[in-house]
Amino acid sequence: MADHRRQFRAIKGTRDILPPDSALWNWFEQTARDLFESYNFRDIRTPAFEDTNLFARSVGEETDIVHKEMYSIGDSLSSNLSFARWMLSKSHETSVRTHDIQPFWKSVDSFLRACDEAFASEEIGRKGDDDVQCFEKIKAIRSEAGNDPENTEDAAREILSLANTIGLHGLMSLRPEATASVARAYIENGMQTLPGNVKLYYIGPMFRRERPQKGRYRQFYQIGAEVLGQSDAPAIDAEVLEMLVVFFKRVGLTRTTLYVNSIGCKECRPKYVEVLREKLREVKDQLGPDSQRRIDTNPLRVLDSKLPEEQAIIAKLPRISDHLCAECREHFAKLKEELNMRGIAYEENWRLVRGLDYYTRTTFEVTAEGLGSQNAVCGGGRYDGLVELLGGPPTKGIGFAIGSDRAILSIQEGGTLPHLSGLAVFVAWMGQAAYPTAVHITRKLREAGLAVELPAEEMKFKKSLGLADKLGARYALIIGEDEVAAGTFTLKRLADSEQKKLSEYELLEYLESERRGRG
Ligand code: ATP
Ligand code: MG
Repeated sequence: MADHRRQFRAIKGTRDILPPDSALWNWFEQTARDLFESYNFRDIRTPAFEDTNLFARSVGEETDIVHKEMYSIGDSLSSNLSFARWMLSKSHETSVRTHDIQPFWKSVDSFLRACDEAFASEEIGRKGDDDVQCFEKIKAIRSEAGNDPENTEDAAREILSLANTIGLHGLMSLRPEATASVARAYIENGMQTLPGNVKLYYIGPMFRRERPQKGRYRQFYQIGAEVLGQSDAPAIDAEVLEMLVVFFKRVGLTRTTLYVNSIGCKECRPKYVEVLREKLREVKDQLGPDSQRRIDTNPLRVLDSKLPEEQAIIAKLPRISDHLCAECREHFAKLKEELNMRGIAYEENWRLVRGLDYYTRTTFEVTAEGLGSQNAVCGGGRYDGLVELLGGPPTKGIGFAIGSDRAILSIQEGGTLPHLSGLAVFVAWMGQAAYPTAVHITRKLREAGLAVELPAEEMKFKKSLGLADKLGARYALIIGEDEVAAGTFTLKRLADSEQKKLSEYELLEYLESERRGRG
């Protein structure tokens, strides 16, 4: 017999969140919603995929996220044009193999026709005229090559590479994070005209092509919050951190540590990066290949290294705290004062630089227990230049993203699990005369907010009570011929088999007060 479970499996790095875990997830997310809204943050929902350039520009082309981890979904071109482009490379392969260039020219002609259609429907050629230029070049090469059979091979190659850039601005990526999307939405919807600071939160899946392991998935979930507006007062940072700390406490994650740092602004950070780069060049031979590469591309990331053999060297590197400009130093000092005033425990960590290019000044991270090396459950910071970088007005910003997968894992591995109510009542009815009463009372109990299971088909009492037990119901509501005749219900508490005979009114009273008692 075929094992049906083996036919299809969730893609590597993705997983199903099933009951009862899904209830824990819902509770976790609902707790965030309730809390964040009490801090006057509002929900924002942005698309799961965006223009690839949005992430390249904001997160940074040299970051791991953009460099290696993004899922770019082909392009947004119509299947016509995509197909014509695919045919181009296929027929080129064939031409090389058979030494007959004719099929290739044919497919160039079809490709050009597909482009014509795409221009007409404004599918390509909208952003700048790069597409138009490529198109004209291909046409020119095509007609020249017809006269000059000597150079067909070079011409074909050039056509292929030009064809590959047409419509490239349409490249899309699944979002690896959502701050860039929120900033894009802020600009696109003119949210800078809204009164006060714009305080937004989001909940949803993110996608990164990483090596799957405990606490690291290719589709994972984040809960994030962002404050955008004109002010960069340290009190905003402090309030964001307070909200975060209160959240972790509320979801029962008590063994967490908050690390904070300041990585300076566009005035002082570049100077520090140069000092750091100089120093790193001196010790280059003692570093691993990743860090060596980062000396040129992104020296701050070296501080993030977890390689044991690099730790002693990193400990002796120049520290950002000694290179902050007066304003940044002041901002950081005020933030720490605010945190103390609010009774928020934190540790300073000068090596906390974060992997994204857009951060300025305040950066922070929260770690939790029970997660092994994937112990960061939240990362965040200030990003004062981001909105402007994406073409918006000068805007300050700060935010964080909580990794729900890891936070929930940590709660399951030693945090305080919430009491989630589950199935309250199983309606054990028997005899067709009892059925209408069962349907009626089930509706009433559900209206009262109780979770109720009503078997669709008649069952013997013993089987009914057995199923109620297996489903984890707290009560079985017995409705048989006797009950219908007497106009009462028998409520059986499954934990201790205690039974009560109750009228409909008494039953509703009793179960409602029980529900309230469970909070
Ligand atoms: P890490 O250093 O662990 O890779 P990160 O710096 O890439 O984390 P951020 O981009 O700051 O992470 O994202 C914020 C949070 O999202 C992280 O602290 C983590 O909890 C979670 N997170 C990031 N990547 C993943 C992933 N692949 N799977 C599960 N959670 C993730
Ligand atoms: Mg990462």
